[in-house]
Amino acid sequence: MLSENSIKELRTNLRGGLIEPGDQAYDEARKVYNGMIHKRPRLIARCADAADVIHSVNFSREHNLLLAMRSGGHNAGGLGICDDGLVIDLGPIKYARVDPAARTVTVGAGCTWGDVDHATHAFGLATPSGILSTTGVGGLTLGGGIGHLTRKCGLTIDNLLSADVVLADGKFAKANADENPDLFWAIRGGGGNFGVVTAFTFKLHPVDMIYGGPMLYELSETAEVMKWYRDLIATAPDDLNGFFAFLTVPPAAPFPEHLHMKKMCGVVWAYAGPQTKAEETFKPIRAFKKAALDLVGPLPQPALQSMFDALYPPGLQWYWRADFVNELSDEAIAQHIRFGNALPSMHSTMHLYPINGAASRVGKNDTAWNYRGATWAQVMVGVDPDPANNEKNISWTKSYYEALHPYSAGGAYVNFMMDEGEERVKATYGDNYERLVAIKNKYDPDNLFRVNQNIKPGKKKPGTN
Ligand SMILES: Cc1cc2nc3c(=O)[nH]c(=O)nc-3n(C[C@H](O)[C@H](O)[C@H](O)COP(=O)(O)OP(=O)(O)OC[C@H]3O[C@@H](n4cnc5c(N)ncnc54)[C@H](O)[C@@H]3O)c2cc1C
Repeated sequence: MLSENSIKELRTNLRGGLIEPGDQAYDEARKVYNGMIHKRPRLIARCADAADVIHSVNFSREHNLLLAMRSGGHNAGGLGICDDGLVIDLGPIKYARVDPAARTVTVGAGCTWGDVDHATHAFGLATPSGILSTTGVGGLTLGGGIGHLTRKCGLTIDNLLSADVVLADGKFAKANADENPDLFWAIRGGGGNFGVVTAFTFKLHPVDMIYGGPMLYELSETAEVMKWYRDLIATAPDDLNGFFAFLTVPPAAPFPEHLHMKKMCGVVWAYAGPQTKAEETFKPIRAFKKAALDLVGPLPQPALQSMFDALYPPGLQWYWRADFVNELSDEAIAQHIRFGNALPSMHSTMHLYPINGAASRVGKNDTAWNYRGATWAQVMVGVDPDPANNEKNISWTKSYYEALHPYSAGGAYVNFMMDEGEERVKATYGDNYERLVAIKNKYDPDNLFRVNQNIKPGKKKPGTN
């Protein structure tokens, strides 16, 4: 039982504020991006700075209270919230400071990627993130970070230079190549298992304009398109990124009316090389076949990053399953066609994100992120605004995943996983898992940080504390 006095003390210690059930702000504060998740925490600590985080971590540990933490609240498995525990809401720690000379940006843990793109684009610079601007910097980064710039600049973690971390014992630590390098290794892919990151410093790249957007084809052409895409991406220059997708054309501009609500396949391209070479780069792509819709052209980097925000507002019902994929065999393509033809709702989709190129040139033991040899991160997602359709969408997602899993590399990108159990987490970290357990033993031996894709501490030896 928590005493009123202890809660009062925590409230006094927090600059950002404390929210409890019954407070007017409670229902809004406990909402996460996935409308399928409804959890009721005992306390929500709106943390304004690292000091607030230290007080909250200490409170949770001293009162044996389950602890969750959220940055953008986007996690599909709802790992940014918990029932009955304390939620560290990092939302108020929102700032992004660019150092144009050093080409770095230091970002508060409450930023979304839209906040970061806004700050860096003014300097003609960018760091790789995901494909939506509403996703939180915290969760996306700590799980890896795959997006439009992956082939050119690597994963988001490959551009992380330093992090400020509040540890399970309430102490503050820097994690970078020189300070606590074991922690730095672990947080690059190991998720929120090792501490609460309050600030991230990223390397920036001179990426300003992108030549990109969707190029869509008839569903009947999927086999041909997928095989061509598979071969093209294997040898494409790093400057060219393109993820394959099944989708339903939204009934809105800029999509032409005759394609509205049509199921299609296609590639969302992002060419981040010299813009003078963009048209030339796309000549063979356009020569392959006339696309039913070609919206590829020059646009500012933040415009590409936020292109799908309106299609996927917060509150939709999300269910997803994922795998890493080394090869896209003709047999796997046949299965993709089966399920692509049966997309169960307008928002449901399947994406194959390339992770070859720059991301594959980092060693599989250089960071916690193990699947450096895979070619794609694959995700199938059943999405819909209406909970009444959940059963249908979940069933399609599971069946699709089960049909394709035999063709996969084994593990999955942690940020695309829901609650899939310990073995799946182990499979994902491969031969990095034991080292992660050792680092967990050092920094969080009692598993205070366990609302995540959990790396469990090893068993304590008898006679040790
Ligand atoms: C619509 C949608 C699109 C997506 N697109 C992409 C994409 O293009 N590329 C990609 O790589 N991923 C993508 N993702 C997955 C995304 O990376 C994960 O959902 C990620 O967890 C979201 O981060 P968040 O901070 O918003 O999540 P939250 O729900 O806030 O947090 C999730 C978990 O991350 C950890 N965490 C968050 N912040 C911190 C912190 N500061 N310190 C310590 N631990 C922390 C915690 O363990 C927490 O449980 C997408 C997700 C959605 C729903």
